[in-house]
Amino acid sequence: MSVVLSAHDTPAQSGSNSILAFDVEAVRRDFPILTQQIHGKPLVYLDSAASAQKPRQVLDAMNEAHECYYSNVHRGIHSLSQTATDHFEAAREKVARFINAPSSDQCIFTRGATESINVVASSWGRKFLREGDEILISAMEHHANIVPWHFLKEQIGITLKIIPIDDNGDLDMEAFDSLLTERTKLVGVTHISNALGTINPVRDIIRKAHDAGALVLVDGCQAAPHAPIDVQELDADFYVFSSHKVYGPTGIGVLYGKADILRDMPPHQGGGEMIDIVTFEGSTYKDIPHRFEAGTPAIVEAIGFGAAIDYINAIGKEHIAAHEAGLLAYAQDAVSSIKSLRIIGQAREKASILSFVMDEAHPHDIGTILDRRGIAVRVGHHCAQPLMQRFNVSATARASFGIYNTRTEVDAFVEALEKVQDLFG
Ligand code: PLP
Repeated sequence: MSVVLSAHDTPAQSGSNSILAFDVEAVRRDFPILTQQIHGKPLVYLDSAASAQKPRQVLDAMNEAHECYYSNVHRGIHSLSQTATDHFEAAREKVARFINAPSSDQCIFTRGATESINVVASSWGRKFLREGDEILISAMEHHANIVPWHFLKEQIGITLKIIPIDDNGDLDMEAFDSLLTERTKLVGVTHISNALGTINPVRDIIRKAHDAGALVLVDGCQAAPHAPIDVQELDADFYVFSSHKVYGPTGIGVLYGKADILRDMPPHQGGGEMIDIVTFEGSTYKDIPHRFEAGTPAIVEAIGFGAAIDYINAIGKEHIAAHEAGLLAYAQDAVSSIKSLRIIGQAREKASILSFVMDEAHPHDIGTILDRRGIAVRVGHHCAQPLMQRFNVSATARASFGIYNTRTEVDAFVEALEKVQDLFG
């Protein structure tokens, strides 16, 4: 692992109060992709909220798995299979420690956050929900935390209710209080909004939901890369996130659940790995987590996921959070001089996401012009169409800051936006 902390940088440079400050240049050297040029300009990657780049440590761990001990897991008696199984299960342990789960058995590997939420909806939802039961979600949810509940609306007749947000992008907690009733069976809420950056008061939400007898599913996709997560302190019933947002590979994520709840849930898929005994008359199932992991899992991806968690831990979430908070504050301040630009999402507590629209210039034009300058931002509805409707926009442009971004890159971004303003003003 490269040296990522340096005593030479001053806290002021990094925005951190720590004596050992965060050395972003050392971090950048770990990400081979960042050295390239796009359209003859240095790549400025401001799209980590969609998917983060991977450090060499993750790539090396995955290469090593393929080159040195690749084999199928769990079923094999031979040495390679046992080594692969040990690494695979060690990754599960790392995930458990990353979110302070009481046990790694409560961390189910899935294809990602989307699949994790679908497992809860199709397994827990179909077993425990009845017509007229209510699910409460917020107005800022990603489609991954909307559409699975629509399925249950169609299949069972549940009611989906929406916690509104104000013009800044903060949840309306008074409305939440009045929407929460004895009919509410589950509250599904994002920890941090992918389109606004709002950090939601999930601990408060969970306490209130539990008082009303409802479970809570937290979509932690955008929180996992930025903030420390403690599922026990939160008392979350379900917590989900994806590896590719925490500098790990795609194709793998996690569904954390409380053990008694997971054990009460039927498997959502059948096949190898998840069974105990199978006859032609019927099957019995393994205990958690395997009961929810039918078929050959994403073995090497799990190992890469574990390596990504090691990488984040080596830097320290507090350094990451401070670095990104510094970048966001710097960027928000810098864009305030661009008169045609309007930030969408000015919540009291925000993580490193800057969503905006500009007079005259469509977000797709903004994205294209920035790309010509080597700057990668996301434009569109960010899989949050209802949220776009709430703000009366069809799309926004979104810059999202990660562990490897610098103030120089923010300067390049702001300069490109000034160019957009000149072109469309
Ligand atoms: N939830 C949030 C808040 C997200 O930002 C995303 C991805 O952008 C998802 C869910 C879906 O994650 P995935 O596509 O990795 O399943």
